[in-house]
Amino acid sequence: MRLFILGALAASAFAAEPKLKEFKPGRFNLFSPEQDVQLGKESADEVRKTMPVLNNAELTAYVNRIGARLAKSKRAGGYPYTFEVVNDPSINAFALPGGPMFVHTGLLASLDNESQLAGVLAHEISHVALRHGTSNVSKANVIQLPAMLGGQMLGNKGGIWGTLGQLGIGLGAQSLLLKYSRGAEQDADLNGAQIMHDAGYDPTQMAAFFQKLEGPNGGDNSKLANFMSDHPTPGNRVKYVNDQNKLLPKKAFSEPEAAALPRVKQLVAGLPPPPPPPKPIAPQTGGGQGTPNPLPSGKYRQHQGPDFVLSYPDNWEVFGDPNSPSVTIAPRAGVVQSQQGSAIGYGLMTSYYFPQDGRGNLQRDTADLVKQLQASQVKQTANAKSVRVGGQPARLTPMESPSPFNGQREIDMLLTIARPEALFYIVFISPESEWAATQKAFDDVVASFQFTK
Ligand SMILES: [Zn+2]
Repeated sequence: MRLFILGALAASAFAAEPKLKEFKPGRFNLFSPEQDVQLGKESADEVRKTMPVLNNAELTAYVNRIGARLAKSKRAGGYPYTFEVVNDPSINAFALPGGPMFVHTGLLASLDNESQLAGVLAHEISHVALRHGTSNVSKANVIQLPAMLGGQMLGNKGGIWGTLGQLGIGLGAQSLLLKYSRGAEQDADLNGAQIMHDAGYDPTQMAAFFQKLEGPNGGDNSKLANFMSDHPTPGNRVKYVNDQNKLLPKKAFSEPEAAALPRVKQLVAGLPPPPPPPKPIAPQTGGGQGTPNPLPSGKYRQHQGPDFVLSYPDNWEVFGDPNSPSVTIAPRAGVVQSQQGSAIGYGLMTSYYFPQDGRGNLQRDTADLVKQLQASQVKQTANAKSVRVGGQPARLTPMESPSPFNGQREIDMLLTIARPEALFYIVFISPESEWAATQKAFDDVVASFQFTK
């Protein structure tokens, strides 16, 4: 019997075939998928104000028909995709979080066939479905982002986009939202090839098009500069896409719009030259310095998060989606809007941190987060202390940083608790001068804290 089991195990190990990889969004993202959609909508409005988006029904309908076929794939994540054409001779296409996509006329002019356009769109759809843009922003702003996402609730008329804009996360080719790592590029290629296959397009055409663009005879490089800087080459696209193709079921591919492409190219060639780019919009100026008040009232109300409860001073407010683990709880005057961005100067933030490797070790995961924070202007000022919170082991790490309140230092007391999925943290923030008056309230918050799941 024992021999039989061993034999069966060995046989299954040797018989293991490479399996088609299913791509999923990364775990570390402080935005909800709904916030991706909202951010994308706001950003698309900005694009329409600053770029020559075409009002040509025939061209837009062509790109939309191809896009809609791809968006139906379950690997497209079900986002509300829209496809628009920008009158710009450079070879580029970009997708904003949550689905709005823009294709340059220069890209349409350079197509050999419909499948190549499907390839670019499927690649861009994959960046949306795998949430690469908001994941980048999340990683770049471990501490500030929960406050930013909360800040949109302050009646800031810019919405999420305005708040991110104030943070210095700009739109366009330079934007963090559209800059991808080589790993993200490869995932977008492979997931995109699967989407093409689902929609009946030949997946090899995506890699073929990218290779044509990158190749020595790839044409005018100045037309490609933005595309290549946003989508760094992740190695041998043709090879890994072809390797994956072997794992996909055989099927016949087609190009339902093949007859339309010559007409599309003719329309593009007949367009008037794009207008000169508009002058940059002057940066928004913020509300200036606030004063850190009111102090905690001494009375409390309860906040019920998705997996925890805590009590907070009843003259403070919860900013952000109360069902998200990332919320900012602060007095209105504790959130400072300035030219550098909105910043939380007084209050507390809760969120999860996903350490690079491994999870579940409180000391190591806390050290990992502290290291991330020290890469910005937050510095540890004393050794971490072991404490217990809600019956669980926790660590309290004293840190400090420049306060958004004029010229002051700020205390950032970091409380961390290891959870099976990631490291939960609360940062208590106060200007140094107010710390003594605030510490009692923070102690009360800690004493009230409980996980509910
Ligand atoms: Zn890409």
